[in-house]
Amino acid sequence: MSFDHANILKNGDYMVRGTAADEQLRVFAVTSRGVAETARKAHNLSPIATAALGRTMSAALMMAYMLKGDKDLLTIRIDSDGPLRGLLVTADSHGGVKGYVYHPAVILPAKPDGHLNVGGGIGKGTLTVIRDLDLKNTYTGQIELYSGEIAEDITHYFAESEQIPSSVGLGVLMNRENTVRCAGGFIVQVMPDADEEVVSKLEKNLSGIPYVTDMQREGASPEDILARVLDGFDLHINETVPVRFFCGCSREKTERALLLLGETEIGEIAKMKQGTDLRCQFCGKTYHFSPEQLRRLRMEAASGK
Ligand code: ZN
Repeated sequence: MSFDHANILKNGDYMVRGTAADEQLRVFAVTSRGVAETARKAHNLSPIATAALGRTMSAALMMAYMLKGDKDLLTIRIDSDGPLRGLLVTADSHGGVKGYVYHPAVILPAKPDGHLNVGGGIGKGTLTVIRDLDLKNTYTGQIELYSGEIAEDITHYFAESEQIPSSVGLGVLMNRENTVRCAGGFIVQVMPDADEEVVSKLEKNLSGIPYVTDMQREGASPEDILARVLDGFDLHINETVPVRFFCGCSREKTERALLLLGETEIGEIAKMKQGTDLRCQFCGKTYHFSPEQLRRLRMEAASGK
């Protein structure tokens, strides 16, 4: 992990979790500029695709942080009828996330308020959350998209699918030259035993807070964002973890996927003079296989190894 650690220090991305109001509120916040920018570069994303994916990756990081097991994974999948068509994001429980947008080059005019029209890019459809726990149990929850703006959709997911009243804020702000200027978000969840007073005070706070990226643009850290959302509450930050765009793909795993195609199929691909390039959907990395390497894999497939 030493390689990743260097990246973390360089991009400064991290998330925090904590509690407020005597543990009646569970809170998370993340700053993820480097995560969104890495995804943008890896997939050559348009600004609106960067915003849609960046917001979803921030949400997935915090939602995966809620999982208990070391190997637990959380996937958010959006399938929709807007020009972006949807996206897929997977996060692990310790700050790694990867993802892609189905139609990454879509460009749409901004909304009247100047914000990217993520809702218009996503359109109508479904949001599915898949939690893989202990490498064996899979829990899936699905809702109809509410606005396609992601934060509202995640809020509705928590209410409908997990019966946890939550407030979710997510944002990605682009620079003029279409690199990511800031990205991040927060999630505040109300525990079942929360007092009415706590809930109404939280609602009052939430009605008056600026957009996440407006706070970040003025230098707000995840802790600062939570302090603002939870103004007047006793906020306790319990843990901080670095976050990064991380894909576990490798040449070895790609070979194993190729082997699954079987002897005949691999033989067909091996006939191509240039060999073949296999691209990882999640991170865009390309693995080249020469005809000679493919013939070796065909023999391996034939011997049933
Ligand atoms: Zn990959």
